[in-house]
Amino acid sequence: MTGLSNSAAVIREYDNKHYMHPWESMEDGRADRTISARAEGIYIYDQDGKKLIDGPGGMWCTQIGYGRQEIADAISEQVMQLSYHSPWNTASEPSALLARKLAELAPGDLNTVFFTTGGSTAVDTAMRFVHFYNNRLGRPDKKIVISRQKAYHGSTYLAASVTGKERSKSWFDIDTDQAHLLPDVNPNLRPEGMDLEAWCDLKVADLENAIIELGPDKVGAFIAEPILASGGVIIPPPGYHKKCLEVCHAHDVLYISDEVVTGFGRLGHWFASEDVFDIVPDMITCAKGLTSGYLPLGACLISDRILAPITGEGQEGVMFSNGYTYSGHPVSCAAALKNIEIMERENILQHVRDISPYFLERLNALGASPIIADTRGVGLVGCVEGRLTAGDESRLALDQKFGSRIDEKCEELGLIVRPLLNMCVFSPPLIITRQQIDDMFDILGRAIETLARETG
Ligand code: PLP
Repeated sequence: MTGLSNSAAVIREYDNKHYMHPWESMEDGRADRTISARAEGIYIYDQDGKKLIDGPGGMWCTQIGYGRQEIADAISEQVMQLSYHSPWNTASEPSALLARKLAELAPGDLNTVFFTTGGSTAVDTAMRFVHFYNNRLGRPDKKIVISRQKAYHGSTYLAASVTGKERSKSWFDIDTDQAHLLPDVNPNLRPEGMDLEAWCDLKVADLENAIIELGPDKVGAFIAEPILASGGVIIPPPGYHKKCLEVCHAHDVLYISDEVVTGFGRLGHWFASEDVFDIVPDMITCAKGLTSGYLPLGACLISDRILAPITGEGQEGVMFSNGYTYSGHPVSCAAALKNIEIMERENILQHVRDISPYFLERLNALGASPIIADTRGVGLVGCVEGRLTAGDESRLALDQKFGSRIDEKCEELGLIVRPLLNMCVFSPPLIITRQQIDDMFDILGRAIETLARETG
């Protein structure tokens, strides 16, 4: 027990008055929020005891579900054993074991792990490594990082600079000198009649042309999520990542795969880069599912190939001066080790591969509704894209409310969804059963039917 027992009214009052939430709307940001009181398995219970299915898996992260006693025990034992260690001058058993485990699970020669506090700091670390690497190799101009429209890579300055999502609306300054965005890769945007292979070649050409135009001596890296997750579950055409990797390596450009969402089972594998998309990147960033959201932790994995020329003999006095007080935090690492042990023991990756076709079948069946423009998904990630206005340009603003209107209706019916303008995104805990998938999509289907009646 936490010893906390305030009423919903008190919590709401303090929250509204004092807590600026992430991505807070300055217009109505302090509006009342659902208060999550407790959670178990795939369910969250609010302060009044109402049970809600966790459709987005927290923020794409609650892989093994809530309320696992084993994780609580691992955390509490580690707290009593060693609650903190200074990561620059001491080592600890949990961080060493976890680094070794990640090297074992990662593709190819990605054998070195830099621990961070989350996904943004993992991406930031990868970007800083690009700077460090090229400075050490005597190529100080080779710093531009190429990214893509709709990509989300985080909220630190550098990670936000390579984020392509709603950039113009963020009201923040970003580093435009060292970031370059490629056009949208969404296959749904391809010209009528163009097949996926031709679209793939066009998108790979976007990358190669950008490298050539900016100058291979100026481009340090390309960063890509295996699927664009919060940009709207955009799945690249077959062969896209492999061809992009070949282009990068032909121009001596590093390839960073941002697996903050896709890592740790979301697509049925520890990492999607190699097992789903057949690439061994130079760096992988991960977080979220690494601890199933029990504690904050992220990591940047680096290949032997790129570390070799800047490590060892001839590097006297050179330091990779990047780090966090909580890098390799022993308690977070102990939680991650237990999380991975549970995923292995319960065969959760196989479960995702087995249940994904049913998840996608139920998702895609929603496409029959006249207000659904598209459904798409892979592994246990899915998206429904709404169309309330049937192409009427003047009423497009209504389309943008599809997500929030579905969200409202689903919440009443016992399902949390992640609204994203004209879309709703799903990434439930990976332990979800067939029956629970039915419950989730039954509720979503009812919400869509009601909205179709209201807007029809
Ligand atoms: N990269 C990707 C692909 C993400 O989806 C996110 C968060 O959603 C991040 C990076 C940033 O991670 P964090 O919120 O843990 O800083």
